[in-house]
Amino acid sequence: MQTVTDKFQDAAGKASFIRKMFEKGLELKREYGEDAVCDFSLGNPDVPPPEAARAVLHRIADDAVKPLGLGYCPNAGIPSVREAIAAHLSGEQGVELSAADVIMTVGAASALVDFFRATVEPGDEVIVPSPYFVEYGNYCGHFGGVLKPVPTRDDFTLDLPAIEAAVTPRTRAILVNSPNNPTGTVYSRAELEKLAALVDKTNAARGDGERALFILSDEPYRAFAYDGVEVPAILPMTRYAVVLGSFSKTLSMAGERVGYIAVSPELTKEDGGTLVSTLVLVNRTLGYVNAPVIGQRLAAAICNETVDLGIYRRRRDLMAKVLSDAGIEFIMPRGAFYFFPKAPGGDDGRFVDALLAERILAVPGSGFGRAGHIRLSCSVDEKIIARSAEGFKKAAEACR
Ligand code: PLP
Repeated sequence: MQTVTDKFQDAAGKASFIRKMFEKGLELKREYGEDAVCDFSLGNPDVPPPEAARAVLHRIADDAVKPLGLGYCPNAGIPSVREAIAAHLSGEQGVELSAADVIMTVGAASALVDFFRATVEPGDEVIVPSPYFVEYGNYCGHFGGVLKPVPTRDDFTLDLPAIEAAVTPRTRAILVNSPNNPTGTVYSRAELEKLAALVDKTNAARGDGERALFILSDEPYRAFAYDGVEVPAILPMTRYAVVLGSFSKTLSMAGERVGYIAVSPELTKEDGGTLVSTLVLVNRTLGYVNAPVIGQRLAAAICNETVDLGIYRRRRDLMAKVLSDAGIEFIMPRGAFYFFPKAPGGDDGRFVDALLAERILAVPGSGFGRAGHIRLSCSVDEKIIARSAEGFKKAAEACR
């Protein structure tokens, strides 16, 4: 008998490309040994958390064994943690945020799910510049939302006229992710200001009784910017911006599942706090209840620090050299820790297979909404990047 809904019955067996690669990687590692495989398929941050985490965790351990030390906390997060994260985000965003504007979540992932639960009716649309992080479609699809990818330009910058043309009365959000997974692009101030102006213009035309259009800014890679590039803050640009992010990558604590949603205080004034209180409600009723309490305390204590970003920059520079030496075309990522190079010969599936033959794991760009490219994650040691050089050359040669 069928045990799940039709939708999931169809989806079963269609595991994501990333998952498939992960499994393939395990198989190859079992067969040839860990060191023989260059795995660029997963974005699991491998750089150690800041050393300051050690002392904080000891302190948290002492507090944790007191009554309620590991108990439920308010659905929106531990009040002192919300205050600390609000102060941190105020600095980042250049807008004065208080604890009341910030909700602690189970990573950026549940922040996205909360937002879609609160704002999306079946058939509503969420515009996303493509290529994009694959899970977005699942997150909004749970509530009948429809992801509407709008291709970026060839250099992965926003195609603003195309985004404007894609907006309909059913559009609930334009979802941007900068620095970007999978391309490493950082959107410029000018691009984001134009996007904010489009959102303000659309909302003004919609009128008071209609539902708002938001810019949803997914920022888990905010700290990962190179070459002095600016990562502009979105909250000062429009009150209809909602920022979400996490400490998964900046503090290498992805498994501890701590993220946040920040809503503009101006919007809270306008809607009387309805969006914030609804986000808190759905965060509870979706079953997250509250973000993990150990992770919340850890993140609050060290949120102004980051992992050693120099390690990621050096990896980026080395990967750029490996790809250039193999004659593979790419746009130098200015942020995050991914490359999205062109597949030599144009067929991303074929190139991924050729790489696999060299025991190099990559993900086809098709899985991110842009065929003809592959995604490489540099959350691996420099030694592995260096070791992959010959394999990239051979695979590229085989596909040309
Ligand atoms: N958004 C983007 C663009 C991501 O790449 C990821 C994870 O890789 C997430 C959101 C979710 O991250 P987390 O829930 O760990 O914060």
